[in-house]
Amino acid sequence: MNQFERVKAAVTLRQAAETYGLTVSRNGMTCCPFHEDKHPSLKLNEDYFFCFGCGASGDVIDFTARLFGISPKDATEKLVADFGISVDAKPVAVRRNPSRLEELRCRRALTDYLHLLKEWKTQYAPKTPEDSLDDRFVESCQQYDRIAGLLEMLDEASSTQRSHTVSALTADGSVAFWEGVVAENRKEAGYRAKEPTIA
Ligand SMILES: [Zn+2]
Repeated sequence: MNQFERVKAAVTLRQAAETYGLTVSRNGMTCCPFHEDKHPSLKLNEDYFFCFGCGASGDVIDFTARLFGISPKDATEKLVADFGISVDAKPVAVRRNPSRLEELRCRRALTDYLHLLKEWKTQYAPKTPEDSLDDRFVESCQQYDRIAGLLEMLDEASSTQRSHTVSALTADGSVAFWEGVVAENRKEAGYRAKEPTIA
């Protein structure tokens, strides 16, 4: 086990974030220090972080390096010093990379959800300034760029980054949430389409 692995096994993202002055909510959300963030959009999981605002992601070493503008090597040494990590610490757990199947599932959920948002954006757009806003229109406005950005990121990122992103989105329930929204909408659309033929 090398120094990087030792540090990652010893310090969780939440511990590092709180030690370095960030306020973290019970569900692991915090205001992102890497972009102008007014509402918490950075999710801290045990061994990786992911920002829904700017797409920043990585492990506790990446986080510390970025926070202090130092190299990963210096960040590792800083964590060792700040958390008093013993150099012969035992590994805590083996990290598992997401399978190809999980990545495909994540991509499909993103693609389907993006497609739905695109429909909603035109279908439920207010016709006059007096119209009250449909929830689906609001959701499409709020989410479209972010979802499109995530998909773009999955296309361009390195395999390590992709792994982090897919793990994060799967672990925090985002993938299941998008699948649910899409399935729910298909069901509704299906009922509507079938109605005339039901005697
Ligand atoms: Zn951010």
